[in-house]
Parts: sequence; C-alpha cells; structure tokens
Amino acid sequence: MRRYQISVAGLLRGSGKRQTFEIVGTLSELFVTSSRVAPEEPIAVAGDVEAVGEGLLVDVRISTRFEGECVRCLEPVSGKLDLEARELFREGETSDEAYGFTGEVVDLSELIRDQVVMALPAVPLCRPECLGLCQHCGKNLNLGACGCDSDLGDLRWAGLDKLDS
Ligand SMILES: [Zn+2]
Ligand SMILES: [Zn+2]
Repeated sequence: MRRYQISVAGLLRGSGKRQTFEIVGTLSELFVTSSRVAPEEPIAVAGDVEAVGEGLLVDVRISTRFEGECVRCLEPVSGKLDLEARELFREGETSDEAYGFTGEVVDLSELIRDQVVMALPAVPLCRPECLGLCQHCGKNLNLGACGCDSDLGDLRWAGLDKLDS
C-alpha cells in the first residue's frame, strides 16, 4: 500500500515555491452507514504544495469509486467520487485551522479521509424514483408489484385486481 506522503524538504528550505505530486494508493475504513470506498479501491490524488507565509498550502484533486446499497431496495449502488480541496498544513499537531505535519514530510491521509467520508452519499439510491421493498413480503417493487394488501395497496390495486380476474 502506497502512503500519501510528500517530502517537502525542498520547500521548507526555500529552494522552490511549489511542488507537484501524484500518488495512487488505498486507504482502509472509509465508510458511512450505507456507502464506502472499498479498502482495495485505488484512490488517485494529484495536486501541488505551495510554500505560503503560514505554512504549506495543498491543492488536491481526489478520484476514486464508492459502492453501497440503495437505502430503499438494498440493491448495490456504485459511482465515482471526484473531489477538490485546498487545505493549509502547519508544522505541529492538526488543529481547527490547519492539518499538522512533522519533520519534512506532509501526510495527506487525514485530508483524503476527511474529504472522502464527507463526500460519500449518506442516503444512496439506485435511482431517485426507486420504489423500494414491500414492507410485508420484502419483494423488490422495482421488479413489479407484489400481491400484498398493504394499506396503500388496498386502494391502488383493489380496482386492478378486479379488472384482472
Ligand atoms: Zn433502489
Ligand atoms: Zn408484498
């Protein structure tokens, strides 16, 4: 597994204002309730680090794929995540204002983790108009109506049942 670490020795010594990076790696434990980035799914990050007065300004684009389950019908859902972020890194511990770094290495893992988890769909749907599962028999109603007498079904389907028979 490649680490999302960038050596910034040159920037810290003032031998350049900006440096670019491109890293493809993986991160585990990226999930919210109904969606996640699989631990083996590649996460590509690219961008640049710029030395600024207060520290290092990181511009990053993050691309990966998520998977999950539709919250209504429980069928698999997947999609792309393309994110952009600009965050300040400062020597020391991570604080409210900036991510921290120690020595001459900036580790982007925490930033990537925060961005990806924030972007994961909390309520994934296979499609906006998904009909979900019947609460009585569990049938996926996207595949057709079931024969259940649900309260709603009574009114909507009673008439059709008569026409059918
Ligand atoms: Zn669905
Ligand atoms: Zn049913």
